[in-house]
Amino acid sequence: MAKILGIIGGGQLGMMITEAAKKMTECISEVIVLDPTKNCPAAQVGAKQIIADFKDEGAIRELAEKSDLITYEIESGNSEVLKSVENKAEINPSPETLKIIQDKLLQKTFLNENKIPVADFIQINNIKDLEEGLKTFGYPSLLKIRKDAYDGRGNYKINSPEEIHKAFDYFKEKNLMLEKFVHFKVEVSIIAARNTKGQIKTYPLVENIHEHNILRQTIAPARVSSKIAEKAQKIAEVTMDVLKGAGVFGIEMFVDSKDEILINEIAPRVHNSGHHSLQSSETSQFEQHLRAILGLELGSVKLIHPTVMYNILGSEDFEGEYKPIVIAEPNVFLKMYGKKISKPLRKLGHVNIVANPQESIDDLLKRLDSLKEKLQTIPQRQ
Ligand code: AMP
Repeated sequence: MAKILGIIGGGQLGMMITEAAKKMTECISEVIVLDPTKNCPAAQVGAKQIIADFKDEGAIRELAEKSDLITYEIESGNSEVLKSVENKAEINPSPETLKIIQDKLLQKTFLNENKIPVADFIQINNIKDLEEGLKTFGYPSLLKIRKDAYDGRGNYKINSPEEIHKAFDYFKEKNLMLEKFVHFKVEVSIIAARNTKGQIKTYPLVENIHEHNILRQTIAPARVSSKIAEKAQKIAEVTMDVLKGAGVFGIEMFVDSKDEILINEIAPRVHNSGHHSLQSSETSQFEQHLRAILGLELGSVKLIHPTVMYNILGSEDFEGEYKPIVIAEPNVFLKMYGKKISKPLRKLGHVNIVANPQESIDDLLKRLDSLKEKLQTIPQRQ
C-alpha cells in the first residue's frame, strides 16, 4: 500500500524529494513537510505543510502521527524526539545515525575510530583549549561550531594569535571544535545510498568549487586521476559500511597535496553536490533516496552525460524581490526553488549544463561562463 511520507524541512531539497515522490504514486500517496516558512518550496510543489520549527517537539509528534515514513532534508532535526516517535513512523536514516552526524565532533570521532581519514581535530571547551590546540595545529586553523552550521556559516578561520579571542567570542555559548587546516588541491564528493535491506550504491566522484564557504559549482565527473577516484570510492564504501541507516548520504572530501583523501563532512541526506544527477544520471539522487528508504532496489548510478551544476545565489548587494531568471538554451536545465526574496548568497536555484556527445568539461565551463550574467539576481524594481 502507498505510504504517507513526512519530511523534516521543506526547502529546496524537500521540494525535489517531493517532486520525485509525486512520480512514485504507487509507493507514496502523500507528502507532508515540517517547515517554519509559510508556503515553503516543498509546499509549492504539492506537499502538505506543518508550519513549525524543525525542532518543535509537538510538531514532530504531529508529523509522526500523520506519516508512515519520516525522512529529513536537514540534519538539525531533534534526534531525541525523533527517537521517541519511532513507534509511530519508520524513520530513515535512523535517529542514532542522525545524532552522530549532526554533531561534527561526534562525526569526526566516529570516523577516526573507524580508521577513516579526517583532518586532525580537538574539542574546544574554553579559550585555553583553543590556545593549546593552535600551538599544535598552527595557523591557519578552523574553529567550527559542532552543530547546526550550514553553508560554512559555522566556521572561523584563525590566521594568527591576534585573532584567537575574536574567534572564540564570535561563537559565544556554542559547543566548539578546532580543526587543522587542509591545504587541499581539490574538493570532491560522493553521493552514496543504502536501502533498508542493506544494498549500497555510490555515484561517481564529483568535483566541488566553493565560494564564501558555499558550494558554487559541481563538475561531474571530477577531473582527477582514476587512482584518486578509486581511492575516494573505497573511502565512501568503507564509510557506508560503518555508518548505519538507510537513505542517501553526501560524503564531502578533500584531496590534499599528497593525493591523500580526507573526509570533510557527511550529510545524512540528499546533497547539493548531487543535483547534477537530475539530468546527468540514470537515477536522480532524490528518487534514489526514496528507493532507499522505501526498501526498493536501488536504481542505476551511471553518469550518462558529463554535467556542470552551478548554484544561483542571491547577489551580495541587495535583499528583496528579484527579476525572474530565464534561460532558453539547449541542454541547460534551470531549476528555481520558488523563493520570492533574494538575500546575499541565498540559494535560490541551480542550473545543470549537460554535455552533448561532442562536448568536454572545458566546453561546459565555457558555456557556463557565457551564461553567468543571466544567472545573477537583480532587483525587481530597477
Ligand atoms: P564545512 O561547513 O565544515 O563543510 O566547511 C565548508 C567549507 O569550508 C568546505 O567545503 C571547505 O571549503 C572549507 N573547510 C572546511 N574544513 C576545512 C579544513 N579543515 N581545511 C580547509 N578548508 C576547510
